[in-house]
Amino acid sequence: MTVPSDITIAQNATLRPIVDIAKKIGLSADKIEPYGYYKAKINPNDVFDMPAKSSNSKLVLVTAINPTPAGEGKTTVTIGLADALNRVHHQDQNGKRTVVALREPSVGPVFGIKGGAAGGGYAQVLPMEDINLHFTGDLHAIGAANNLLAALLDNHIYQGNALNIDPKQVVWRRAVDMNDRQLRNTVTGLGKPADGVMREDGFDITVASEVMAIFCLATDLADLKQRLGNILVAYNQDKQPIYAKDLKAHGAMAALLKDAIKPNLVQTIEGTPAILHGGPFANIAHGCNSVIATRTAMHLADYTLTEAGFGADLGAEKFCDIKCRLAGLTPDAAVVVATIRALKYNGGAAKDALKNEDLTALEQGLPNLTKHIENLQEVFGLPVVVAINQFESDTAAEIEMVRKACKRLKVEVALTQVWEKGGAGGEDLARTLLALLETHNDQMQTFGFAYDSNKPIVNKIRTVAQRIYGANDVDISVTAAAKIKRLEALGLDKMPICIAKTQYSLSDDAKLLGRPTGFNIHVRDISVSNGAGFIVVICGPIMKMPGLPKHPSAENIDVDEKGNITGLF
Ligand code: ADP
Ligand code: MG
Repeated sequence: MTVPSDITIAQNATLRPIVDIAKKIGLSADKIEPYGYYKAKINPNDVFDMPAKSSNSKLVLVTAINPTPAGEGKTTVTIGLADALNRVHHQDQNGKRTVVALREPSVGPVFGIKGGAAGGGYAQVLPMEDINLHFTGDLHAIGAANNLLAALLDNHIYQGNALNIDPKQVVWRRAVDMNDRQLRNTVTGLGKPADGVMREDGFDITVASEVMAIFCLATDLADLKQRLGNILVAYNQDKQPIYAKDLKAHGAMAALLKDAIKPNLVQTIEGTPAILHGGPFANIAHGCNSVIATRTAMHLADYTLTEAGFGADLGAEKFCDIKCRLAGLTPDAAVVVATIRALKYNGGAAKDALKNEDLTALEQGLPNLTKHIENLQEVFGLPVVVAINQFESDTAAEIEMVRKACKRLKVEVALTQVWEKGGAGGEDLARTLLALLETHNDQMQTFGFAYDSNKPIVNKIRTVAQRIYGANDVDISVTAAAKIKRLEALGLDKMPICIAKTQYSLSDDAKLLGRPTGFNIHVRDISVSNGAGFIVVICGPIMKMPGLPKHPSAENIDVDEKGNITGLF
C-alpha cells in the first residue's frame, strides 16, 4: 500500500464550510462562532438549551495496550471509527449520528519529536496545520491565566505580603507552550529592590498546568471560576495553605478563559463533526478532553467517541476514576487498540525487529492485552471490543493469532484499516461495536470505579497498584509520606488520585513488559491539584517541561509565501 504523508493527505482533502458541519449536528449558523471558514466555537449553553439528540446517548472510550515508543494509533482509530460509524448509520439510514471528542494538541511537542496529535493517514481531523499550530488560541489563554496567577502571587509578596506567604514554599509555577528545558529551573525577581522579591521558580509546559486540568473538568464558567479559586499556590510561614482565591485571582483568570471554555468544532477528512477541546498531560493530569466537550458531543449525537492518553492502565483508569467520577458520566463501552508490533514488543521482541513476523514474541506479549481487557471488564464493568490497528508489516498468521486469543477470552475483536482506508476500513469494527452496545443495553448498568475516593491516600494508591497494575504492594518515599500526612491533616485527601508513571509498562519500570508480576510501585512524591480535585502521585521521573531533541522537527517545518505549511509530518 502506498499511503502519502499525513500533511499531503490533509492538504488534498476537501474541507466543508464549518457551518455545514454544524448543520449535521443540528446547530444553525447562529449557534456557532466561526473562527475563519473551517473552525468554530460552540456555545455550550445554547446547546444544552436544545433538546438532546438522543435520550440514550452512548459514550465510548478508545484506549490501548501498553504501547511502543511510536504510539499505537488511539487517535487514528478514534477518528476512523467515528467515520466508520457514520458510514454505517448512513447505509442503515437510521438517522443516528456519531461525533468524535478529542484533546487539542499542544504546540511544544509539534516542534520536538512526537509530531501531530490529529490522527494519521486517512483518519485525520482538519485543518491539521491549524489544529497542530495555534488552533483557536485556547492553549495561550490557559497559559495567560496560569501566568496571571503567578504574577499576582509575586506581586502580593512584593507589595508587603499581607498573607505572610513563604517565598520558599511557593508551589505555583509559570507556564509556556513550548518544549524549553532552559526554563525548567529559574531564579526570578533578580535586580534592584523594585524588581520583585528574588526566589527560585520554574516553568511547566502549559498542558501540565493545573489550569488545564481544571479547564477540562469544569462543568461551566461558574464551576471553572470556583475551581480556579481553589488552586493551592503556596504555604504561609505557619505552613497553612494559600489559595488562588486568597489572592483574588480567580475572577480575572476565568475572564481570560471565557472564550477558550467554549468547545471547538472541526471535521474529519470524511466530514464527521469533531469537537477538540482541552488537552491535559496524561501523567500528572488525567489526559482527556474537556468535560464540556464530551457533554456537548453527547447532547448532539447518538454516539460519542473519545480517547484518553496512554495505555488503559493510565488513560482508561483516569478517564473512569477521575473524569467520569467527577463529571457524573457513565461510559458504555471501551475499544482497546492493539497493534501486532506493540504486542511483539511486550513479548520481548527488539525495537528494530518489530516488522518481522514473530509468533513467539506475539504470543508472549498477549498477556498484556489480556490484563487490560480484564481490568476494563472486571474492575470498571465495561463491555470491550479489541481493535487490531493493522500495519503494513502485520502478517495473516499474526492477525489470526490475536483473533484466536480474543475468541478464547470471549471478547469481541475486529481488524481496522482506517489509517489506510479511512472510515471504509473501520466498518467491521463499527458493526462489532454497535452489536456490543445493543446487547449491553439490555443488561444492568455495571460501570464502577477502581476505588472509593474517600479512603486514605495510601489505601487508594495500593488499590490501583494491585487491581489495575497487578502489583504486590506500594513503597512510599519519606518525602511522599510527609506530604501525605500534611494533606490528610489539612483535610485535602478525600479526592481521586492521579498516578503519574511510565506508559510503557503496567508497572513503574518501563522495562517490565508484558504482564509483569511480583513488583512494587514506588511513590516518589505527592502533590495536590486542589482546584482540579485530585491528588497527584508521582512514581519515577516525570517531566513537566519537556526539552527538544538534537534535531527538532522544527528544522523541517516551513511556510511559503502563500501561507502553505510544509514539513509538518
Ligand atoms: P496515539 O493516539 O495512540 O498516540 P496516534 O493515533 O497519534 O497514536 O498514532 C501514532 C502514529 O502512528 C501517527 O503518526 C499515526 O499516523 C501512525 N499510525 C497509526 N495507525 C497506523 C497504521 N495502521 N499504519 C501506519 N501508521 C499508523
Ligand atoms: Mg493520541
